[in-house]
Amino acid sequence: MKSTANKQPRLLPDVSLPEGKQRTQGSLWTPEELLVTLAAYLEMLRLEQRGEAYSKAEHRRKLLEGVLLGRTAASVEFRMQNISAVLLSIGQPYLKGYAPARNVGAKVIAQILEFLAELDPELPIELRRQAPAPTVPPPGNPHPKKREVTLSTYERDPEVVAFVLNRAQGICECCGRNAPFLSKNGQPFLEVHHVEALALDGPDTPQNCAAICPNCHQEAHYGMRSAEIQRELQEFLAALYNQS
Ligand SMILES: [Zn+2]
Ligand SMILES: [Zn+2]
Repeated sequence: MKSTANKQPRLLPDVSLPEGKQRTQGSLWTPEELLVTLAAYLEMLRLEQRGEAYSKAEHRRKLLEGVLLGRTAASVEFRMQNISAVLLSIGQPYLKGYAPARNVGAKVIAQILEFLAELDPELPIELRRQAPAPTVPPPGNPHPKKREVTLSTYERDPEVVAFVLNRAQGICECCGRNAPFLSKNGQPFLEVHHVEALALDGPDTPQNCAAICPNCHQEAHYGMRSAEIQRELQEFLAALYNQS
């Protein structure tokens, strides 16, 4: 049993999932499994960076009772350590509680980066910058290859989107400014953001959604003030719906 209690400075030896070994088809992680694990990891990272308490065991339990049903606790731990290793390798902060696992296969690294990108569309630009930015313009690729990605996403209720946009009346529920432009249909352009992410089991309800401008939206996901914004939006929505 690996628990959060044991403090091993380096790696937890993981005998259950040696990356070098060929695994059977059935044990390959699906995109959804990796996504929810990443989401849980990033949530814990956010809490750690905020200095707030969180429970690794609790997050793990939620994963194992949900999408990762049937996986072992050890395999979840190992994935978490893989994620630490990837974040470390690209100079990003990682959870100290998950010592970066060595021997992460190149494929697994690529997969984690790819799904970090899926989860966090803005992240890859930063994340993929493993080397300093080139000083001469790179050639790029005139014909980027098309890539098939199987991805599970969450169904969103269009009525919730419509309701929340109508509630905002064209004014960002985060910064209070007018939507920056009109969409092609002539409506003020705002984006409906889930304050508690769907990937973290946040509900798709008006009480968990805010119509915010693209700037605020990006900042809510990727800015230094992301935690602060989340708190503000939570307070805003609580005030809106608890008063009645
Ligand atoms: Zn805004
Ligand atoms: Zn969002």
